[in-house]
Parts: sequence; C-alpha cells; structure tokens
Amino acid sequence: MVVAELYVFFYKDHLQLLTLTNGDPMKCPNDNSDLHKEKYEGVEIDKCSTCGGIWLDAGELETIQETHINDYSEDLKEMSDHINEAYDFAKAKTKALLNCPICDNVLERREYGFCSQILIDSCIKGHGIWLDRHELKALEVFYERSRIETSKIRLGFIGSLLDYLRK
Ligand SMILES: [Zn+2]
Ligand SMILES: [Zn+2]
Repeated sequence: MVVAELYVFFYKDHLQLLTLTNGDPMKCPNDNSDLHKEKYEGVEIDKCSTCGGIWLDAGELETIQETHINDYSEDLKEMSDHINEAYDFAKAKTKALLNCPICDNVLERREYGFCSQILIDSCIKGHGIWLDRHELKALEVFYERSRIETSKIRLGFIGSLLDYLRK
C-alpha cells in the first residue's frame, strides 16, 4: 500500500518533469501566467511578464552571484532603497503561500541569509526559488555588500596583524 502511494507520487513528479522537458512553459505561481525564458547575467531564468517575478532553478542564484557581470557600485549607495523596496513588497505578501511551478508543493517562505529582510519562497524538494519583483536585485546588492564588508574586515585584520608583527 505504502509502496503504491510512493509510486504514484514519483509518477506524478515524473510526468510533470516530462511535460516541462517537452517545452511547455512553467506557470507563474503568483498569477498563473506563462513564464518565459530570459538571460540574466548568463543564466537562463524563467520570468513572468505579468508580475515581474522570477523562478530560479536550483543552483542558479549561486551562479548569478558568482558572475558579477553587473556593477553594483552605484546601487550600493542606494542599497537601502532597494532593500526597503523588497522588504515592503515582502511585507505585502500576506496572501496565500505559492506553489512550486515544477512539483506543485507549497513553497516555503523564509528570510534569505542573515538579516537580509528579503523573503524567498523556495521548494522544499529543492527544485528552485521564486523571487518577486525587486527581490533578485535586492539579493545581489545584499550579497555584494556582505562580500565587500567581509573583504574590509579581512583587510582590517591583516593590517592589524602586520602592525603587531612590526612591533
Ligand atoms: Zn506572475
Ligand atoms: Zn518543487
């Protein structure tokens, strides 16, 4: 009995994956519009032209963060604006939870990283994450800021170590 149920679940996932590979566009979990493929920093993402949300398959956010094609030095100055924008949007998300466009399970909503104030909906089965408008940029800015702060801390640490050694 249990084995049969598991099989059905597997079969359902398998069917949906097959449908996807046949070229059917994924549906926006927000408004059910078709998601269209778009290149973002060399990574193929699925974007909704109705609400501007973005679906990233597992691993794609990491790839985008590692490329650094965009220069965020200007954005960093206005960083708090972007983050506030995303935060306001996230706070407005009091509506029902969204479903994964691949497996249809409810996406888990939680804050990305530490104190980023950016809420992300991610598939508990690891299919990927859903980002509302503004959130991808806010995430990248947040990541850049963490990276810059880390390098500053390192410089500070090495600097003080050199000072110590010189004495
Ligand atoms: Zn949408
Ligand atoms: Zn999923």
